[in-house]
Amino acid sequence: MSKDNDVEITKGMQEYIDHNNKYLSDRNRYIRDVVKKWRFDTIAVHGLYTVSDAIEDYQGAIIEPIFMSTAQAYRDSDEMAAALAYKIPTWCYSRIANPSTYYYEWALALLEGYGYDGETSCCSTSSGMAAITTAVQPFLRVQKDGSKLRNFVATAQCYGGTFQLFTVCLMQEQDIECRWVVDPTDINEWASKIDENTRFLYGELPSNPQQGFFDIKAVADLAHSHNLPLICDSTVATPALLRPICHGADIVVQSATKSLTTSGFGIGGAIIARKNLVANIDDDQLKTDFALYVKYYQNRNLGTNLHPMQAVMSLNDMRTLRSKMDLMSRNTMKVAQFLEKHSLIDSVQYLGLPNHPLHDLARKYMWLVDSEYDDQYGKPVNRYGHLMSFCVKGEPEKTRLFFDSLQRIWRATDLGRIKSVATIPAISTHQQQGEEGRALANIPLNMVRLCVGAEHPADIIADLDQALHKAK
Ligand SMILES: *Cc1c(COP(=O)(O)O)cnc(C)c1O
Repeated sequence: MSKDNDVEITKGMQEYIDHNNKYLSDRNRYIRDVVKKWRFDTIAVHGLYTVSDAIEDYQGAIIEPIFMSTAQAYRDSDEMAAALAYKIPTWCYSRIANPSTYYYEWALALLEGYGYDGETSCCSTSSGMAAITTAVQPFLRVQKDGSKLRNFVATAQCYGGTFQLFTVCLMQEQDIECRWVVDPTDINEWASKIDENTRFLYGELPSNPQQGFFDIKAVADLAHSHNLPLICDSTVATPALLRPICHGADIVVQSATKSLTTSGFGIGGAIIARKNLVANIDDDQLKTDFALYVKYYQNRNLGTNLHPMQAVMSLNDMRTLRSKMDLMSRNTMKVAQFLEKHSLIDSVQYLGLPNHPLHDLARKYMWLVDSEYDDQYGKPVNRYGHLMSFCVKGEPEKTRLFFDSLQRIWRATDLGRIKSVATIPAISTHQQQGEEGRALANIPLNMVRLCVGAEHPADIIADLDQALHKAK
């Protein structure tokens, strides 16, 4: 993978290349014959870190070591030359790659690719926003014919940071048109916004905080019929509940800051892409292995790398992803059912509630992975994650009074935590986009976003109830 000038291969370099080609083919066989046959939990626990890696390279460390080193040393000039021309696997310098982020990337590539027949790869990023920027940027380049007309089509219901990135940084500052889809369940609305200058389709699902959803397969089919990729932000679901690549999406972006980790130790992100994706960009390397392309070319230059310390902390959190998402989803369902019946609540938005307008669509896609192989369930079960929102009755001051009265639930612009956290999007995450932007994204002033953690749900319900009564 090299965008740079081709180098001449010396005999010494060729020896390193041959040696590493054997290493790569052994690894690919191990992935295909062993790891791809494991259940989700086993992949989450072990990823690609093996006993032989540990014994041969890392003095037997059973946990992936944190490689706090800026750079990698080479045996001689041939190895260095082969490595820096990307002719052999190398990590080289920690802005480009690092052994700790390597294990994090493989765990995520395999988890997002769980149940998918083809191959996936992953590029770690310093944050979820870095993942989104990295994912969209390569498609927005000026084409070889010099044409600067570029647009993309995206769901208007999306994370506040994404809305800012698309409207301010891309549209206003770089003259790249973002065409918002207001009702993403309407496939005709998507279709009507695509033209010959469209570069990709982008959708967040379930969206934060409104729980927007769309039919991934239908939108992926539409994208592909126009030779375009579909990029999905699947942060809220995590691969434990939804894997868009299995339904035709080309690229998934994740904020690993959120439910993927739940611990709240730090910021991180990832791009996971399927190999050989669809795009109307004239660049074979980009299409063949998008994640590797952004890792070794774009991100090397932009410097949006994940810290090795954070990579191992996140990796460690992800080992129990499936059981955490199950528990927190069930807790959220109980809280949603309580709020739905509460006399001081106007409306509850949770995809798990049968009366949610998008429930049937979400039910088609959101499943607890492997529940059919689980002693507890023994059959497929739907799970909808731990993000919900609700609107408090009365004028907006009541919402603030309720919010200020919460005792156990934390007031913070955070989500995906093992601890329950609430925010008022209109004054926090979605404050910057103004009234018009909030109306487009459907964020009223009395909306509270709640992310239910792993506490006993009765304690969360009691806290909500006392705060609602204070705001009566
Ligand atoms: C938080 C979030 C992001 C941004 O992630 P950071 O890690 O905070 O940069 C992107 N998408 C969604 C849905 C999010 O919730």
